[in-house]
Amino acid sequence: MQTLIEALQGTADLVVNRFYEELARLPKSRRILEMLSEQELAHLKMRQVQNLLAIAQPGLASKAHADMAMRIGRIHAIVGLDKEELVRSRGILQELVYKLIGRSVSSQSLSLYSRRLTSDTAWQLKAYQSVEDSQQEVLQRITRIVWEAGGYTHFIDQVIATLAAHDEVTACAIGRPDANGIFHFEAGAGGGNGSDALLNVLTTLGHEISVRADHAHGQGAVGRAWRSGNPERVVNYQTDPLVAHWREVAEREGLRSAVALPLTAPGQTPIAILMLYSAYPGGFVGPDQVAFIELLQTLLGCAVTRLQTHDGLHVAAVPMSVRQHWAALVRTGALEMHYQPLLSLASGHCGKVEALARLRDGDRLLMPDEFLFALASDDLLELFARGLAQALADRAQWLAAGHDLEVSINLPPAALNDIRYFDATRELLAAHACPSARLTLEVLENEALSLNQGQRAILAKFRALGVLLAQDDLGSGHSGLARLRELPFDWIKIDREIAHLGGVTTLDALRVVYQVTRLGHSLGKLVLAEGVDAADLLEALAILGVDGAQGYVIARPMPADELAVWIGGTARVSDAGAAASVLARLARFIVWEERVRMIAAMPGAARDLLGANDLREPLAEALMGLGDILPAGETRDAIQRDLLRALPGGRESAAWRAAMARLMQAIEAAAQEATATAHAH
Ligand code: C2E
Ligand code: CA
Ligand code: CA
Repeated sequence: MQTLIEALQGTADLVVNRFYEELARLPKSRRILEMLSEQELAHLKMRQVQNLLAIAQPGLASKAHADMAMRIGRIHAIVGLDKEELVRSRGILQELVYKLIGRSVSSQSLSLYSRRLTSDTAWQLKAYQSVEDSQQEVLQRITRIVWEAGGYTHFIDQVIATLAAHDEVTACAIGRPDANGIFHFEAGAGGGNGSDALLNVLTTLGHEISVRADHAHGQGAVGRAWRSGNPERVVNYQTDPLVAHWREVAEREGLRSAVALPLTAPGQTPIAILMLYSAYPGGFVGPDQVAFIELLQTLLGCAVTRLQTHDGLHVAAVPMSVRQHWAALVRTGALEMHYQPLLSLASGHCGKVEALARLRDGDRLLMPDEFLFALASDDLLELFARGLAQALADRAQWLAAGHDLEVSINLPPAALNDIRYFDATRELLAAHACPSARLTLEVLENEALSLNQGQRAILAKFRALGVLLAQDDLGSGHSGLARLRELPFDWIKIDREIAHLGGVTTLDALRVVYQVTRLGHSLGKLVLAEGVDAADLLEALAILGVDGAQGYVIARPMPADELAVWIGGTARVSDAGAAASVLARLARFIVWEERVRMIAAMPGAARDLLGANDLREPLAEALMGLGDILPAGETRDAIQRDLLRALPGGRESAAWRAAMARLMQAIEAAAQEATATAHAH
């Protein structure tokens, strides 16, 4: 073997140079060689020489050799060297070795060397297989993430974490452009100098990326992919003139090539761009890689499109750096819980508050609509635990001041997949000596139609703990009626989109509130209306049988100390004059209508009952009870008579409809009169 090494030392350079000349004749390998800078090619040859010598070492253990060959094989797979050409090129190499040193060494060592070269090729091929397996695994994970995607931010964080763990990907990032076409990375990982270094470098040092063709920084892969809608590559940052702006950064971060994937449904304008960076030149162009990337793009495109229709993704891209700032705020005591009273409509008192998160950022108070969606899942857990701790501490203060208030707090959908939320709740209740029944968790739904087994199990644990559960935002589009029946909620909160009344739909809006309340009650749940911002609506809700109300008309969310003052003060919402309001009358009408509807549904029964003359008057009064809706007088009597006469004909009869139309008119008129009188005073 010693003579072999000596012979190789003399000729390895020649062998390798010849080898590369031959390699340049293989079509796919040539493409790879062509995109290397001179320096890179020289480096590659140097490594090849080292490798030829290493294989000739007499003491080379099989394990060490295998590791080395696998490592090199993985690089070959990652730069996209074609598998067949790999095998052919190894043949060429072997032949060259024979030809150039075959005569000067013993046949014994030559055959050992040749065997080692063959195993080397076999191990390299094994490395190809492992890269392919890893691609399969990544695709499977991504598929799961795509199916389970509930929110954009969480989704991109998961995608990035999965891709960054994949061998072929040295760094990756997802982002979107703003209105000016400046591109912002929203999530990313990898790069030579630690996970966020790359993004910070790319986004803060004037290496701004644009998606506009007329922008000086618009010709990078991101910009081109945004405009073309196709994957765009940088095969080598060191040689590609289009990305000269980023050459230095890329080198510093150890990024040699990249591909930009526009994410969208086929044929649509991109919604976001995924960048994958490789530590090697090549830009993900091998046939396996192209297939991998196409699948990846399709999967992620579907998810992003779905998330866009669902969330609207109306919120502008939040740069990674801002997200990190917010996440840091959550962890550094900038969280300030505010409290909004919930009014019990039966008692007219507030015995409960909803805790709502705000973030103090200098002299700005950030609202959840701004920061919530941009938080990663661990930040949300932190927000929950810190928010709950604060709320329970504040509750203890109020209690000390003589106000025993219930606290309600928002539980993000992710809490049903993550037992840490439950653990935090149990520990905090104990730590603050809060009876569990004084805490309500408001569960916001994700888009899934029904809960899986694991999620049900976590809900069951919360129930067993004794906290109350509320279904938040019913009717906001996120929550299905089916879940009402299925899930163990104590409260239903009707979204303000439904309770927001006004204009011509008022009557129907009240009808919906009324029916949802009846449905809730019949399922054994209490019902609260959110976003109540007018006094007359409160009275109407009480008439409709709604149990609770929350909204600006009662009080806005406020800091803990203000709440103590508020509760100690009035804490009772005045409803003077509201009884005469249009909404109150309409609410009474709706309740009345429901009663009459039942009778009208049985024309025969109505006819028989009403046929008994002596029963007629008292029955009419009992059935119709228009007294609550219209002021006494001729009009009311006339309408009542008409309705009674029409009743046996059923609800579809012309007579019934005409009488109803008259009733509606009279309600409007009476309400206008009441308003005018109120203004006159
Ligand atoms: P939500 O749970 O439906 O909370 C009620 C939101 O409606 C609050 O907004 C509140 O200020 C607002 N609101 C109350 N009354 C009225 C009204 O009469 N009119 C109108 N237009 N709005 C009213 P906020 O505090 O900005 O919270 C927005 C959403 O952010 C909440 O909706 C909730 O989904 C989420 N959120 C708030 N705090 C937290 C938290 O600590 N953790 C989690 N995971 N989510 C939170
Ligand atoms: Ca809520
Ligand atoms: Ca809500």
